Amino acid sequence: MITIDGSQGEGGGQILRTSLALSAITGTPVRIERIRARRPKPGLQRQHLVAVQAAARVCNGHLDGAELHSREIVLTPQAPCDGTYEFDIGSAGSTTLVLQTVLPILLCADGPSQLRIRGGTHNPMAPPVEFLQESFLPVLHRIGIAATLDLARHGFYPAGGGAISAGIQPWQARVPLQLHERGKAIGRHAEVLLANLPAHVASREAQALKHGLHWSHAEVDEREVAADGPGNAIIARLRHAAITTVITAVGELRKPAEQVAQDCVRQVQRHLQGDAPVCQHLADQLLLPLAIGAGGSFRTVAPSEHTRTNAAIIAAFLGPVVDIAEQGGCAVVSVRGRQAQAG
Ligand code: AMP
Repeated sequence: MITIDGSQGEGGGQILRTSLALSAITGTPVRIERIRARRPKPGLQRQHLVAVQAAARVCNGHLDGAELHSREIVLTPQAPCDGTYEFDIGSAGSTTLVLQTVLPILLCADGPSQLRIRGGTHNPMAPPVEFLQESFLPVLHRIGIAATLDLARHGFYPAGGGAISAGIQPWQARVPLQLHERGKAIGRHAEVLLANLPAHVASREAQALKHGLHWSHAEVDEREVAADGPGNAIIARLRHAAITTVITAVGELRKPAEQVAQDCVRQVQRHLQGDAPVCQHLADQLLLPLAIGAGGSFRTVAPSEHTRTNAAIIAAFLGPVVDIAEQGGCAVVSVRGRQAQAG
């Protein structure tokens, strides 16, 4: 049994998700203690509880301590098991983070899986659906992963009620990743999503984006979406030949539209000032797929605490397979893949 201290480093939900996935994939029981100790509401919130239950289900595992607000759980896994699964978070908790928990496990199953997950689709502090569709999954495709993701209904905090569906094929040919350059810029676009809020919220955000970024009318769209409650998010895409970067700003109650737009503008400008292909969020999310696949390397911005912590959790299961070499504001991350090690 491996014991993981959930308070280390970033001290958030990713420690839990990575530990669950690696436990299921390697067949090693795991005890996770002090879960999400560095978060304002520590322990298992609904989204994390569903992630824990989902991980156990897709590996026929046994769980101890899996209750709301629990700070310690034990997963005793069996083997990854393909199938058709439905998970309902029952709140606006992030569907994409539940998907990222089970995706690595189901890649190691014998047959294809279908998933339907209900909850939030556009949450602060989580990848929105577009990030997975346009940035994360295309990179996974390059390393031989075949997975699809569809948004069935938008879900925003606090009402939730969103839904995604995903199809996951067993991972057959595991290809190493080399991603060091963005390639030339081939397009840029921002979309202001609005649900059940006055139209001026979207038009003020669109206006502030065009002004702040010097983008044309055609490069910024406003889109009304159906959802159970109010919601607003800006999704900006920066397309380069080798990678699309998806930048998000999520609207919140009492946060002025101009401030939401400004948040997006700042992130876009920061990304365009550098030339690393992999943004900080994608960097932490790529470590696990590379470590269970054929490895590889990529260039990213200065590594975040999420990236460092995820590397430490992976090391607890697979050894020190992630190397982070910082080079003047950027970092080259190299990962020795499990398949490469075995071979
Ligand atoms: P945690 O806070 O430990 O639950 O982990 C949150 C995860 O969501 C990390 O993988 C972050 O990189 C990711 N994340 C947070 N915000 C964004 C964003 N705006 N776009 C993409 N991924 C994000």
